[in-house]
Amino acid sequence: MQDFDIVAVGAGPTGLAFARALDGSGLRVALIERQPAEVLAAPPVDGREIALTQRSVDTLERLGAWDRIDPAEIYPLRGAQVFNGRSSLALHFDPGGGPQDRLGCLISNHLIRRSLFAAIEGQEGITLLAGAGVEQVHADRSGARITLADGRTLTARMLVAADSRFSATRDQLGIPAEINQLGRSMLVTRLEHEHSNRGIATEWFDYGQTIAMLPLGEHQSSAVLTLPSDAIERIADYAPAILAAEIERRFSGRLGAMRFVSGPHVYPLATTYARHFASDSAALIGDAAVGMHPVTAHGFNLGLQSSATLARLLCDAAAKHRPIATLLLLRRYEARHRLATRVLYSGTNLLVRLYTTEHRRARFARQVALVAAERLSPINSAITRMVLRH
Ligand SMILES: Cc1cc2nc3c(=O)[nH]c(=O)nc-3n(C[C@H](O)[C@H](O)[C@H](O)COP(=O)(O)OP(=O)(O)OC[C@H]3O[C@@H](n4cnc5c(N)ncnc54)[C@H](O)[C@@H]3O)c2cc1C
Repeated sequence: MQDFDIVAVGAGPTGLAFARALDGSGLRVALIERQPAEVLAAPPVDGREIALTQRSVDTLERLGAWDRIDPAEIYPLRGAQVFNGRSSLALHFDPGGGPQDRLGCLISNHLIRRSLFAAIEGQEGITLLAGAGVEQVHADRSGARITLADGRTLTARMLVAADSRFSATRDQLGIPAEINQLGRSMLVTRLEHEHSNRGIATEWFDYGQTIAMLPLGEHQSSAVLTLPSDAIERIADYAPAILAAEIERRFSGRLGAMRFVSGPHVYPLATTYARHFASDSAALIGDAAVGMHPVTAHGFNLGLQSSATLARLLCDAAAKHRPIATLLLLRRYEARHRLATRVLYSGTNLLVRLYTTEHRRARFARQVALVAAERLSPINSAITRMVLRH
């Protein structure tokens, strides 16, 4: 049996960022991940292009992960436009001439994971148990006990769950979560195209489909198509050239002729929100706490924020030689992360419901909302500020 101050379950991007943020705290941390260390060191391409806000970039810089990413793999997001149905009217977001010339940037998820893993390698106080799934956890006021699939047992003063939106750790802690299975899936594929995207992301809530184009260089984009899951499964089986032609047709040729580059990857959509982000000697971070719909690109940005918020509280407590898993600390973490996420989570779900409902009244409401947001510049700039801040 091994004893630690903190055991974190899941070395996805959030778990890695959390472990990294505890550097210098003097805390003994175990990070448990079911995937083997070789996969963590060189994660496979998963097709997710993560739109990072400036705040997340700053956090990754502080964690020593940002400089490990090849600048040629970082794509600036110079603006965004949202279309509704067949209307040519678009809602535009731009950085607004502030200190930044971009809304954020796009980076492949596997590169974020790789750079965070490289950053924690050799970090004092961290024990990585990779290739070892967690089988069972128990936590109460006196601490936590974790049993691995290979029979090993760990004890800790605090348990942190970073094991995805369908977190088994959260379930075993008895923390209920709101889970919405949407019956729709996202297909992501990289394509080259004839016309320039000008570094601008397009989100098109068309009737019967949602399609986004995320700029990865002027003539390359990640296409993100959302449809009912059975339709996506069928399209995912298309040969590469037919898939490219299908996306070109579904995007109404706005970017000209398209050529397949890589993919596709399919993600069934579900949103989740845990009723509590903490319980006795335990806390939830990342998707285990809040599983956002990808449409507003906030999932990892908020996950990174959760890891930074919790790590800061823990580092402060450790620096003052205070106990770490106190009720007060856990309540503070929960309150701060709820404040950062609740409105965004509900607002995103509302947007998805509005823009995927097809009856006439909803179509009218969609257009009214778009016109209002475009004409009322305070709304537009409030959304832009929100995007830049989070
Ligand atoms: C198509 C798509 C596009 C997206 N785009 C964006 C975007 O633009 N911007 C943005 O901010 N976010 C985006 N997201 C969301 C983002 O990818 C997630 O929020 C992020 O990956 C969550 O990280 P995580 O570490 O919390 O969880 P995960 O990435 O799910 O990692 C969980 C880890 O826990 C491990 N694990 C699970 N169970 C166990 C166990 N029992 N024992 C040991 N290990 C375990 C898993 O192996 C995994 O490594 C997107 C998501 C999708 C699907």
